[in-house]
Amino acid sequence: MTMKPIIGMTACRGEGKVFKTNDTYVEAILRAGGIPVLLPIAQGLEDCARLAAMADGVLIPGGVDMAPQHFGEEPAKEVTCIDHQLDDFELELIRQAAALGKPMLAICRGHQVVNVAFGGTLYQDIPGQCPQAGGHYQATDSRAEPYHTVEVLPGTFLAAAMGEGAVLTNSYHHQAIREVAPGFTVSARAKDGIIEGIENADGSIVGVQWHPECMEERYPRFRGIFRAFVERAAAK
Ligand code: MN
Repeated sequence: MTMKPIIGMTACRGEGKVFKTNDTYVEAILRAGGIPVLLPIAQGLEDCARLAAMADGVLIPGGVDMAPQHFGEEPAKEVTCIDHQLDDFELELIRQAAALGKPMLAICRGHQVVNVAFGGTLYQDIPGQCPQAGGHYQATDSRAEPYHTVEVLPGTFLAAAMGEGAVLTNSYHHQAIREVAPGFTVSARAKDGIIEGIENADGSIVGVQWHPECMEERYPRFRGIFRAFVERAAAK
């Protein structure tokens, strides 16, 4: 039997606290058989190497917009909420974890941060920069509510985890991946072409633009994403 893996997850700031997260991430990790450990950005960048070494896997969750200076741009007027210290902490943690070959699951903002960490770029604002795009920011009461269709591409690690083909997902983003980082490929797209999933060549790093942690209780198909990630972390 394999030991339960430690899953380090960054925590953002908010409401005057240095430590804030949504329970759904923690519950999804627990349900998949991992040991969740929250990593507040109160820690310095020099600590990231040890944090990455301690964790068997790293989860980068959703949150505020990434500062566009990381991909060579100044903010569009629709980008109003950023956190440079969070960006710096997550970018360093991702680089250190990747150097150690640690599996990573990146969700929503995390999926965008991972892409930028490896040299990709973002659309700062989908409505402003992608006029052909459909809705990607729902206003439903429940975050478990599906919103738009995503096509999971066959032959990808994401398809191996949750099955290929069309699936309804929630959607809470106004930014999206523009140029995919070198070494990564697209694993899922919305019908309007917006990139909804990326992964690296060996599948150790998987990013999804939607929030499977909010849907997996109602729609078990999404549990496969967490199960595959935690199993990989356990094997590492
Ligand atoms: Mn979307």
